[in-house]
Amino acid sequence: DKTAVDNSNIIETNNDACQCKLYAIERGYWTDPYLKTLAGSTHNERRTPEISLGYYVRVHGLRYLIEKFIKLTNNDCQIINLGCGFDTTVFYLLDNVNLHFKHFIDIDFDEITEIKSSKIHRIPHLRNKFPMNNQSLKIPGGFHSSLYTILPVDLRNLTQLDNQLKILSNNNIIDYKKPTLFISECVLIYMSNEHSLNLLKYLSQTFSQCCLFLNFEQINMNDRFGQIMFENLKQRSCYLIGMDACQSVNTQYERYINGNFMSAYCITLNEYYKKYLNLNEKQRIEMIDGGLDEKELLEQLFEHYCFSWAYRDEINLGLDKIKF
Ligand code: SAM
Repeated sequence: DKTAVDNSNIIETNNDACQCKLYAIERGYWTDPYLKTLAGSTHNERRTPEISLGYYVRVHGLRYLIEKFIKLTNNDCQIINLGCGFDTTVFYLLDNVNLHFKHFIDIDFDEITEIKSSKIHRIPHLRNKFPMNNQSLKIPGGFHSSLYTILPVDLRNLTQLDNQLKILSNNNIIDYKKPTLFISECVLIYMSNEHSLNLLKYLSQTFSQCCLFLNFEQINMNDRFGQIMFENLKQRSCYLIGMDACQSVNTQYERYINGNFMSAYCITLNEYYKKYLNLNEKQRIEMIDGGLDEKELLEQLFEHYCFSWAYRDEINLGLDKIKF
């Protein structure tokens, strides 16, 4: 069956992300006590310093904006992590005494959510993070507790997404009117432009009062280096059809505006790295693998990834203040 084959290639990209993150974590770029438990053992395949620096920046940039959002809402918010893979953001937030949320939802294909959910059920130091009671909803292929839910959804299927969210809203677990953060970390690129645009439209309409969409993904894919990246990605996941949206900063804006968001922002990783990353931190991470011989390779790579975000803010919470 063609669809199943295509999905398994997309699902496999989670392994790539986990292996690269685990490598960087083991080298000391940042700490994460949970990823190894969730993702299993590492291959220990050597990665270039540029790749590890890229993952560091990806994780830190996203966390910076996530924290800003949570603080702006005074901890009264919901977070929905789209195409979560084995990402550990929910654990990171729970370990941080200053950051709280009303509910956190992880969403991915059921192949991923089943593994993530069963590990959390089975492994005490993961399960103990989430108090459960007998009234807890049962989510087939997923997980539910008062603070955290894992939903198996194909994000290209908005009926499925809507049905699952409705169950949570009907049970007062989420509130469509509450400030809501969507995270998509290297996910939209694995969908057609039509699917990602429809997803954005659906989310901005369903959470129309106050929501922020935070995205990290490939960009500038139509230059020479971008084409090489594209070919590499294609070899692993032969089904990359969201490339048009990854053409430029402008196509990122356009997608948000067409998706009915009010304001949109986009910066390349180069811009982030040069302007916003703390200097001491930069020196520390650049020295981990013995320093960079030449910056050119890093700059070339970083020109091909971006942070982009957009919001709807009918209640004037001040989402325009969310930036680096
Ligand atoms: N966000 C995680 C991270 O950055 O560590 C995982 C990134 S991985 C490159 C892409 C993830 O998006 C995979 O886990 C994949 O299964 C998920 N994904 C892609 N398309 C999806 C879809 N249509 N529905 C649900 N999940 C999807």
